[in-house]
Amino acid sequence: MISFHQVFKSYFVKGREVAALKPIDLQIAKGEVFGLIGHSGAGKSTLLRLINRLEEPSGGKIIIDGEEVTAFTKTELRHFRQQVGMIFQHFNLLSSKTVADNIALPLRLAGSLPEAKIKARVTELLARVGLSEHAQKYPAQLSGGQKQRVGIARALSTNPKILLCDEATSALDPQTTAQVLDLLAEINRELGLTIVLITHEMDVIRRVCDRVAVMDAGVIVERGDVTEVFLHPQHQTTQRFVHEAEGDGSPEQQQDFSKVQGRIVRLTFLGDSTYSPILGQVARDTHVDYSILSGRIGRIKDTPCGQLMVALTGDKAEQAEQQLRAAGVDVEVVRT
Ligand code: ADP
Repeated sequence: MISFHQVFKSYFVKGREVAALKPIDLQIAKGEVFGLIGHSGAGKSTLLRLINRLEEPSGGKIIIDGEEVTAFTKTELRHFRQQVGMIFQHFNLLSSKTVADNIALPLRLAGSLPEAKIKARVTELLARVGLSEHAQKYPAQLSGGQKQRVGIARALSTNPKILLCDEATSALDPQTTAQVLDLLAEINRELGLTIVLITHEMDVIRRVCDRVAVMDAGVIVERGDVTEVFLHPQHQTTQRFVHEAEGDGSPEQQQDFSKVQGRIVRLTFLGDSTYSPILGQVARDTHVDYSILSGRIGRIKDTPCGQLMVALTGDKAEQAEQQLRAAGVDVEVVRT
């Protein structure tokens, strides 16, 4: 659906070049939820805004749904932007307009639908985002979560193929964040919409994204399926994000097992193996003892997963590892 070929963006500040985005290649498939994560200044907003050409690239080619967006004329661009909805951290609603009128705005600006059809569409969108009873309220009368729901309904009004989310939950509390993310996941599932979101929170990525790219200083330093990146982060920036999300301190602190005896292994359980009583069974079969040094069990989008750091003691530790692997558990030896 979205394809970047050697796209880059530089800004010139007082005659000096700031490379916000170094040349990147990126492919985002139709119907996926793709996350971009990075610290402030990493280049996430720049990349996101290049998709609908709110920012002009300094070079490279962007192809969306088979069309070269970077070659569009102004008229083509205006038409194309109706196929790309966008939501923002601070909602960007018009305070002088009601909820219903905010949602209707893109359709009224496009001018292609009669008023009766616009009203019907707004009613349908209000129901989808759970705000039917608030149609005549003004933004100031709504909570943050409700405001973002209006933002989502407005973004969906023109029936876009792509939804861009610019830190859409960063101004919301954790519970409201979860509700808004669930709504985005539902929209992705039911409408088959491609969603690209940027965030600085790994938890947002874990909850809704299928794939993720980690950005640092204008470069994508790591990318892949969220399960793989979350469970086996390679780059230091990614490792920091994952550990922050887990609330277990820095990766360096985690690795201090100098006082622990035995072989240390990291076990990763994904899908059905997560809840199986395999560890006890292997311990009984091999007479290997295990002590759990750290652990986390949860979900990545819809997939249950768990990861345990375990010390194995006994003569048959390697046999225990083989048996775990045979049962579908990923075993990484951290220390022999
Ligand atoms: P992020 O969204 O990850 O915080 P941005 O894409 O906003 O990062 O910024 C990437 C880099 O580009 C930063 O160094 C930022 O200062 C710079 N930058 C962004 N927008 C502009 C601009 N309009 N003018 C000059 N520099 C900019």
